[in-house]
Amino acid sequence: MLKIVKFGGSSVANATQFSKVKGIVESDPSRRFVVVSASGRQHKDDNKITDLLYLCHAHIKYNISCDNIFKMVESRFLEIKNELNLSYDIQKDLDYLRLQLDKNVDLDYLVSRGEYLTALLMAEYLGYEFVDAKDLIFFNYDGSIDYPKMEKALDAITTKHPRLVIPGFYGSLPNGTLKIMSRGGGDVTGSLIANIINASVYENWTDVSGILMADPRIVKNPKQIEVINYSELRELSYMGASVLHEEAIFPVKDKNIPIHILNTNDPTCNGTIIKEDVSDDTSNHSITGIAGKKDFSIITIKKKHMSNEVGLIRKALDVFDRYRVSIEHIPSGIDSFSIIVESASIKDFLYEMISEIKKECTPDEVTVIDEIALIATVSRKMKNRAGMSGKLFTTLGKHGISVAVISQTSDEMNIIVGVHNDDYSKTIKAIYDEFEG
Ligand code: ASP
Repeated sequence: MLKIVKFGGSSVANATQFSKVKGIVESDPSRRFVVVSASGRQHKDDNKITDLLYLCHAHIKYNISCDNIFKMVESRFLEIKNELNLSYDIQKDLDYLRLQLDKNVDLDYLVSRGEYLTALLMAEYLGYEFVDAKDLIFFNYDGSIDYPKMEKALDAITTKHPRLVIPGFYGSLPNGTLKIMSRGGGDVTGSLIANIINASVYENWTDVSGILMADPRIVKNPKQIEVINYSELRELSYMGASVLHEEAIFPVKDKNIPIHILNTNDPTCNGTIIKEDVSDDTSNHSITGIAGKKDFSIITIKKKHMSNEVGLIRKALDVFDRYRVSIEHIPSGIDSFSIIVESASIKDFLYEMISEIKKECTPDEVTVIDEIALIATVSRKMKNRAGMSGKLFTTLGKHGISVAVISQTSDEMNIIVGVHNDDYSKTIKAIYDEFEG
C-alpha cells in the first residue's frame, strides 16, 4: 500500500498546522510521498505566500519597493522554523531570494519559492527527504508532461529515499527553466506523482471535510458527497464547484487511482472519495451534487425550413470559431437553434459576430438573451431512471422559476437548466430541497 498525500496551503499555514500534518503522516506508514502547497492563509484575513510573491513581482515590475511585502513572506517562514525548532538555514535562502528581487527575477522562479521553502521545512520536520520539483516534474515545451522522464527520475530517487517531501505547483522545462502551473496546481503535482508511482490512493488534504452537494452560501448545511465518480466531478467542477484543480483528475483517472479528499483539521471525518467504479456505494442519494455559473448569453438563430438546409449550424459555428469563442451548449429546434456562450467571451465583438452570422446564414432572425445562469444537477443514477427530470422541472414550476434553456447529454448524467441570473440561488435551493431536503 502506497499513498501520495498532498497538503494544501491552509494545512501548512503555520507551526500548528505543520504539527497536524505530522500527526496525519505518522499515523499511517503508507503515507510515504508528501506534496505540499506554499504556506496559505492562517485565517480569512491573512495572506497566502503565493499571493505575496505575485505581489512582490508586480511591485518590481513597476519599480515600487516590495520590501514590506517580502518581509511578510520572510517572517512567516522564520516563524514556522523557530516555533518548530528546525535547523534548516532558511534565512540564507530568503536572503538569496531578496537579492534576486533586485535582479529582474523570473516570475515563475519567484512564485515557486513558496512551495520550495515550505517543502524544505516540512521535509526536515517529518524527517523525510526533500526533492526539488524541478528534478521530478518535467514539462515539454508545449506544456504537456514528459511522463517517461518523470518515471526515470522518480525511480532513481525512490531507490535511494523511500520517504519524500515534494513541493507542488511547479516543474521544469527541457532546458531546465522553472515553470509554474496554473493556480492550485499543487493538486496536479500530487496526481502526477500518484500516476507515476502507481499509488493505491491519492489523499488530498484540505480545510474542508470533502465535497459538498451544493454551495453552502446558497444551501444551508448541504450534505457531503461520500462517493463520486470522475465524470461527475468533472461536470461539477466545470460548473463551478471548487475543491480540486480540474487538471488533477486526469493523471489518476488514467490509472484508476482513487482520490480521497480529507480535512487536516478534522482527520477522522470520512471525506469524499472520487473513483471510477462506484458500484460499492450503498448510499441512497438520488443526486450527487448541484453546481452552477452565472452570466451566459443565448444567441438564437431562426430560419424557416432550417431543418432541410445542410450546413447551417456549421456556418454559424465557423463564426464563433473565427472569434475563438468557446461554446457551452447548442440546443436546437426544428427551425431554430441556440448557441450558449459565456457573456464575457463575446462582449467585445458581439455586434461584429452577429452581422457575420447574418451574412453567412441569412437567418430570419437572430436574438441574444443575456444574464443567464446555467445550473447543473449531476447524478450517475439518472440513467435509465424515469421521473428524475420530471421531478426537477415540476419543482422549478412550483417555485415560479422560468426555464430559458434545457440541456442533457445522452449519458444522462447531468441535467442543465438555464434560468435568469436573478433566479440562480432560488433554483439551486429548490432542486436541493426537492431531492435532498
Ligand atoms: N500555491 C499555489 C496557489 O496558491 C498552488 C497551490 O496551492 O496548489 O495557487
